[in-house]
Amino acid sequence: MKMAGYVAQETCKPGNRADSLTHPVYRFPGFPVYQRYFQNNPQMPTRAILLGVAQDGGLPQPGCNCPNCTAARANPALRQRVVSLGLVDETADRAWLIDPTPDFPAQYDALTARAPLAGILLTHAHMGHYPGLLWLGPEAMNARDLPLYATPRMAAFLRTHAPWSGLVDGGHVRLVEVVPGRALVLSAGLRVTPVAVPHRDEYSDTVAWLVRGPSRTLFYCPDIDHWRAFQPDLRAWLCHQDVDIALVDGTFFSPDELPGRDLAQIPHPPVRDTTALLAESDIQVTLIHLNHTNPLWRPGPERAWLETRGLRVGAQGDMWAL
Ligand SMILES: [Zn+2]
Ligand SMILES: [Zn+2]
Ligand SMILES: [Zn+2]
Repeated sequence: MKMAGYVAQETCKPGNRADSLTHPVYRFPGFPVYQRYFQNNPQMPTRAILLGVAQDGGLPQPGCNCPNCTAARANPALRQRVVSLGLVDETADRAWLIDPTPDFPAQYDALTARAPLAGILLTHAHMGHYPGLLWLGPEAMNARDLPLYATPRMAAFLRTHAPWSGLVDGGHVRLVEVVPGRALVLSAGLRVTPVAVPHRDEYSDTVAWLVRGPSRTLFYCPDIDHWRAFQPDLRAWLCHQDVDIALVDGTFFSPDELPGRDLAQIPHPPVRDTTALLAESDIQVTLIHLNHTNPLWRPGPERAWLETRGLRVGAQGDMWAL
């Protein structure tokens, strides 16, 4: 499939589902191309856009000389923004952002090229997932009454801790408390549901988000300690929720990836475990939230191993019609 202004890549496994061939990933080498695509794009009025892929610290990370960070420092094309997902309903002329990251300015510009920002959805209070809120304040955008969808614990954290409380008190944002498991209507074409997930909950609890469009359902889960919370197992749960596209935690390829750090203190399901659960599935599985140390950042045996099992690594600019 080839259309003007962008390159379509069919990277999902065909699987058994009849329509699986109709939801390819569209990948863009950079945002200028991506914005050109928007201008020529009547086909995807409701869509999700991956605005970054990296774990909270991005790539390269300050002070790190691991092979991935060294390569990214030498070659700016290898730099990676922190994971964030944009949702657009062009019919409603509205866009939403899940996870306002430290890369918020560039991600905001990319997302709002065709529709204005109508709200921000939060997952949790770790450094990669909410500091972008600072740009909404008086020093920068001076937003007015922007809806901020958060669990009661996350909302309480923002309300009671500076500098976030200043955004609330100054009327820059309006906290909308959401209940895990309860759906929320964003527009005629988009419905979202927060899903409680186990994670290191020092400051807030943590949710993933189910996003239901007119035709497809996407599951966005950048951060989780383990998949055991999903019953009877992750794959069955995704099928039960009619998920077509799963963007899931791919932080560490293997448990021995961070020498000198105790991974029990920062648990994530290793990619090997996630792959065992979701290989050869008719759900299109894309790994996100990759740590700077992850060998999947570069072509090699690990990436080949992953792709032969039908999973893929996300890329900034990936887009899915919903
Ligand atoms: Zn994170
Ligand atoms: Zn590094
Ligand atoms: Zn986290």
